[in-house]
Amino acid sequence: MLSGCRRALPAALRLAVRGWAGGGGRRRVSTSWSPVGAAFDAKQQRSRLTGQSTGLFGVPELSSPEGFQEAQEKALQETEQLVQKACTTPPGPQIVMIFDQLSDALCRVADLADFVKIAHPDFAFREAAEETCRNIGTMVEKLNTNIELCQSLKQLLADKEVMDSLDPETRQVAELFMFDFEISGIHLDEEKRKRAVDLNVKILDLCNQFLIGAHLPNKIDKQILPEHIRYNFAVEGNYIQITGLHADCSDDLVREAAYKIFLYPNAEQLRCLEELLTSRNHLAQLVGYNTFAHRALQGTMARTPEKVMQFLETLSDRLFQRTLKDFEMMEGMKMKLNPQNSKLMPWDHPYYSGVLRAERYNIEPSLYCPFFSLGACMEGLNFLFNQLLGISLYAEQTEKGELWCEDVRKLAVVHENEGLLGYIYCDFYQRADKPHQDCHFTIRGGRLRKDGEYQLPVVVLMLSLPHSTKNSPTLLTPGMMENLFHEMGHAMHSMLGRTRYQHVTGTRCPTDFAEVPSILMEYFASDYRVVNQFARHFQTGQSLPKSMVSRLCESKKICAAADMQLQVFYAVLDQLYHGEHPLKRSTTEILKETQEKFYGLPYVPKTAWQLRFSHLVGYGAKYYSYLMSRAIASMVWKQCFVQNPFDRAMGERYRREMLAHGGGKEPMLMVQVIYRNAAPPEGT
Ligand SMILES: [Zn+2]
Repeated sequence: MLSGCRRALPAALRLAVRGWAGGGGRRRVSTSWSPVGAAFDAKQQRSRLTGQSTGLFGVPELSSPEGFQEAQEKALQETEQLVQKACTTPPGPQIVMIFDQLSDALCRVADLADFVKIAHPDFAFREAAEETCRNIGTMVEKLNTNIELCQSLKQLLADKEVMDSLDPETRQVAELFMFDFEISGIHLDEEKRKRAVDLNVKILDLCNQFLIGAHLPNKIDKQILPEHIRYNFAVEGNYIQITGLHADCSDDLVREAAYKIFLYPNAEQLRCLEELLTSRNHLAQLVGYNTFAHRALQGTMARTPEKVMQFLETLSDRLFQRTLKDFEMMEGMKMKLNPQNSKLMPWDHPYYSGVLRAERYNIEPSLYCPFFSLGACMEGLNFLFNQLLGISLYAEQTEKGELWCEDVRKLAVVHENEGLLGYIYCDFYQRADKPHQDCHFTIRGGRLRKDGEYQLPVVVLMLSLPHSTKNSPTLLTPGMMENLFHEMGHAMHSMLGRTRYQHVTGTRCPTDFAEVPSILMEYFASDYRVVNQFARHFQTGQSLPKSMVSRLCESKKICAAADMQLQVFYAVLDQLYHGEHPLKRSTTEILKETQEKFYGLPYVPKTAWQLRFSHLVGYGAKYYSYLMSRAIASMVWKQCFVQNPFDRAMGERYRREMLAHGGGKEPMLMVQVIYRNAAPPEGT
């Protein structure tokens, strides 16, 4: 029921990580930013200091950590009443409405707590939120196996006449709720249901264990490493700790050593992975699916593992020639820099593609940063949304106690005719204890309330930008600017979703569709016509020269095929591991074969990269999602916006046909409509 708390993929899954250190600069002279830009370029207190505390996000109970307990109890009480109501209401659309209220009552607290538990600077708040998440999670488990509750929904789904009379969104949501019951094994007899619960618990434990193991360092006797490279690693007595791949290190030998040692197989982690995959397969079969992948892919755009493999194979075929060329280029560069040892190995890929990029195009971030002050970027987004959708962003004053940190900004998203659409809290700046991960959080989903009012969506965007300094406002590297656009794409998906039910609000859509709006924003961020609108030097006001924008865009194409090929390899591996069981070979042998077929750089004996593949946990059988979203976003860009990125008619169509539906409509149907409508009319 609460699997409605689907969230957009974290940025870690994104293809190219372009992180550069920020550049400096002198004091800025003048600004002409309108409010949203100014809100981010000025260091000023934004929230009221006097009066009563309103509580986090304006939730009165959350003025103190203890309030979580109270908010949680309220939610659980409301839940009980709604369960009663659902069980006594005759089949009809009201049932779906009650289920959605039920889900809303729990999500409202759980989603908020989910954010607070990782982002609040105060440990007491984080701890209280964590406790609340656990308690609500337990409640959800109970509800998903509540037979009486399920029965009321089943009756509705079985009543063909009533079902036919419902609008498509209501039908879709009813089916989604049913799906949550089914994957929890509600249709099983008591003994099997118990086994399903036990398996779920076991899987959760294995997932946690695997995640911990995936990040554990490997240590070796320091004598084994050549003395001149030891300083690159942490030394502990006689041992050296290898904590990662050192993929950007310029010394080939350091990368090679790190690769071989960090990926050296750990027997316990190997067992953990095998057991996790087997247990997932058991669970899937117990609730009626062939494989775990079949279970995971129900309700996605791809629908079946066969379709996913077809997609990945086609993509791989298309990339093949370009990937070979990329590898040749990298090898050429390695030959130049290290003639004695020029064979291209897996530890060379990220490093040499970076070297090539830097050599061909001078894209030194410090040249770009001065043009991308945070205020300028926000102005750019504001202008773009204004042109495309008639929407403006306004910085809003917050109340005492509403924020978890004083540097958070609250934006009101306002449509020229429809008025206020929702709120985005921008938690953009670095701070101690804040996870270094760009992410979008739904705090409250949009839905049509019983009184006819629309419950406005509320989200948080989390980034880790540097603070402004005495001499300059916050300046973004091109990579950070692109990330900001990406995350704003998620936020606008949330703001513009106008679903009747919060269960399918905004980004609560199938995983392989969730990244479409955000990746589409990356296309805008790379388009000169868009960038030219906002990129101004913070001191001189000069706009970013076109040649610099082109250089930036061209540099992104360098080795892009090889980068994507690597992702295809990971995605195939994820499919095979979650496919037919028992696996035909060991996970390492499968890795070796898949790497040769879908990547191209040789497998290195006595390594087991899969044991570090932490996304197997969160995205089990859905790692392909990012690639598929990218394919769809590229299509939408070409169909709708490449001719004119400010085309209002296209913007409106995109909003109406895609964003407005959240997860309330089959993504494939939305894609088809966009495709059909955007094609130039025949005969003209
Ligand atoms: Zn994303």
